[in-house]
Amino acid sequence: MKKHIFPAALILVVVLAGMGCRSNTDNKRDLIFVGIDALDWELMTPLLEQNLLPQFQRLIRMGASAKVNTNAEGGSAVYWTSIATGQHADKHGIHGFVTTDPSSGQLVPYTSDMRKSKAFWNILGDAGLAVGIVGWYISWPAEPVNGFMVSSYLGMKGEDQLTWKGTIYAESPGMVYPESLQADVDQIIRAAGKNFSDNLGLIVKSRALEEDTELILSTKESFLSDEIYIEAGLRLLQKERPRIFAVYLSGLDVIGHRYTHAASGVQLNYDRKYGMVQQNYYRYMDRVLGLFMKEMRPNSLFVVVSDHGLREGEHTNDGVFICAGPDIRRGHRASEAVNLTDVCPTLLYLLGFPVSADMDGRVFPGVAEPSYLQKNPIRFIPGYGQRENTAAAPQKSQFDEKIVERLKSLGYLK
Ligand SMILES: [Zn+2]
Repeated sequence: MKKHIFPAALILVVVLAGMGCRSNTDNKRDLIFVGIDALDWELMTPLLEQNLLPQFQRLIRMGASAKVNTNAEGGSAVYWTSIATGQHADKHGIHGFVTTDPSSGQLVPYTSDMRKSKAFWNILGDAGLAVGIVGWYISWPAEPVNGFMVSSYLGMKGEDQLTWKGTIYAESPGMVYPESLQADVDQIIRAAGKNFSDNLGLIVKSRALEEDTELILSTKESFLSDEIYIEAGLRLLQKERPRIFAVYLSGLDVIGHRYTHAASGVQLNYDRKYGMVQQNYYRYMDRVLGLFMKEMRPNSLFVVVSDHGLREGEHTNDGVFICAGPDIRRGHRASEAVNLTDVCPTLLYLLGFPVSADMDGRVFPGVAEPSYLQKNPIRFIPGYGQRENTAAAPQKSQFDEKIVERLKSLGYLK
């Protein structure tokens, strides 16, 4: 094997360049981040009071919580990119779910290489922390990170090219980084495909699941995606133990849009036919939260974030932010709301890193103990730099076939 010899001067440059964004040396925290699309405070409140969400209750008591203010437009693809970068779309470059492919003139999903700004996993990975990111919006193709990424492809379907929530297909290029984890993830995808119906029976009445309708198809599709990302997330978190772990789950948003209605007559009919689907999905998310909370260590920051709320089929400005861990205020409910763009700088600060001045958000003041804030003044740097090799146009995917395959396996197409 050939040995690489680096000149001393180069090493010095690398060390100096790295010093600006070094963390506090005594900060050995790790992060477990659970992103849940459309989790809504107002809707959660009565469920918490009825003790139907014991894990959320436990996390709220352990930590600080606040409402999330969706201070952006353009939908969840934009919102989750703002959560990850601390910036709005004019800087991060993801302006919606889809963009025009200049070569064909067609609308196609944004791809991860079109994001111009570094996400927290790039910033922290570049600083030497191992990261593991699972199912994040607009993360296909999986980015080469200092750790692993299980990506999410935003499917499109039919002549009207409706977008779907992101999902993953077995044996597909670009889905997993590094490729050495592909076989593990493929196995999880196949196992989830076989088993998900039983679990879904706890959320939607089993008899209704036999229906051959768009409603049931999209329910199966989004539940299956959540099951895959939960299982892949848990297994890889246990196996790889990255310092920075994040998983994103989209099913609650789909369920909220499909099964809840402002008209009480319509709602009653749905409840009778399908069961209390939205409430059941909240309870499912609560069980999932418990599984990830089991992975907490004494030095873990544990964060739950949603991009917006959702009630009676409509997005609300009542998203959820909960953060627990060392030096985080216990049982505190902040009166101010967290902006989407505050999440990334707040995480960086709590992990001992400087905040970048080119982020649109700020360190949310309602989270850390006053003594921690006093001992650890917020540090700023001008920026963490742009990503290299970003693309102006989306990459082509080979997923149309996969989508059809999946619809067949869900029993929708013969
Ligand atoms: Zn939505």
